[in-house]
Amino acid sequence: MTSHPEHDTILALPGKNFKMRLGRLLPNDHQELRVVESLLIQSRGERNDPKCNCCERGLGLYTECLSLFGWFDDACGSCKRNDAGAQCLLSEAYKEEERLLKWIESGDKEEKTTRRGRTTQVPIKYF
Ligand SMILES: [Zn+2]
Ligand SMILES: [Zn+2]
Repeated sequence: MTSHPEHDTILALPGKNFKMRLGRLLPNDHQELRVVESLLIQSRGERNDPKCNCCERGLGLYTECLSLFGWFDDACGSCKRNDAGAQCLLSEAYKEEERLLKWIESGDKEEKTTRRGRTTQVPIKYF
């Protein structure tokens, strides 16, 4: 048992071996919650195809890009460990930001059409 009940839920899932780049492990890594959680992602997650932006560039601690969907914002293990979960192309936070950016970009050019067919202009002053 750990002090984080959600970790026990994840640990109960079938785990598998994974590889890491040892030179990137820092002395205090094992005490960091985000590192522990990244290990949970790598050992229990599913392989992302294609890899996320960071893994594609080989920036991660882990050699493979895995995410545990429904957990940790869907960020991959390497991004989670780098404390850059929201920058992971695969994370919900990143996707949400993408949606927001698209909305903002379209906001001052186009009219928005709601489901009921009404249109509304997004005032640029709100940004
Ligand atoms: Zn990744
Ligand atoms: Zn990532």
